[in-house]
Amino acid sequence: MFSAQIEQFINKKKYSTFSPKAVFFDMDGVLFDSMKCHSSAWAQAMQSVGLPFTVLEAYMNEGRTGASTIDGVFIKTLGREATEEEKQTIYAVKSSFFEACNKTVRMPYALELLEKVKAQKLQIFVVTGSAQPSLLDGLKTNFPGIFHKGKIVSAIDIQFCKPHPEPYLLALKKSGLQPWEVIVVENAPLGVESATAAGLFTIAVNTGPLDPTVLLESGANLVFKDMNELYQNWETFSSNWK
Ligand code: CA
Repeated sequence: MFSAQIEQFINKKKYSTFSPKAVFFDMDGVLFDSMKCHSSAWAQAMQSVGLPFTVLEAYMNEGRTGASTIDGVFIKTLGREATEEEKQTIYAVKSSFFEACNKTVRMPYALELLEKVKAQKLQIFVVTGSAQPSLLDGLKTNFPGIFHKGKIVSAIDIQFCKPHPEPYLLALKKSGLQPWEVIVVENAPLGVESATAAGLFTIAVNTGPLDPTVLLESGANLVFKDMNELYQNWETFSSNWK
């Protein structure tokens, strides 16, 4: 199992091998079960200023920075970008709805999977569009001994957000590895696009309400229904590497 997808990846990218030495994890919707709160907070914040935006649209925009998400809705609805003031106002409203909702719940089987990956002596990175100042604290509290400061790429490190490849290319640079030495775990279509554009083998876990074909169409090499299914299949997947 999975050897066909790996071979397809190698051939398509014209690599000569697939020999993972690191796993790059997206954060929201992969490590934290936070997307229900993010998506409802976005929908409520946009609707509070009279802009139409559904929970499903929030999932489709997941991975963008806050500013980029707000600009997208303004361009679609009003034909112009948002001003800095509008962005700050809407983002503050979104953040307050999110804070009221979020309890920072670890995604089921995320810690168990990370422990397997750590035991395999693979490097572990986080690549997120989030700019939360308490990001590292949250990771350290919920995943003790797994994450380190130098192995996090967040919104403050990048010029272009997902679906641009920059976030994953920056993680690749920090890791010192080649693209055929990395696996990405993502849950969002734009995150998958970003990772595959960076040339990386991308596993999607469909932890939200999306049709799984959306993730395949975004370029995911493998799609699992949740982190538990990925966790259960990890050894089988690993047995196909060089
Ligand atoms: Ca995500």
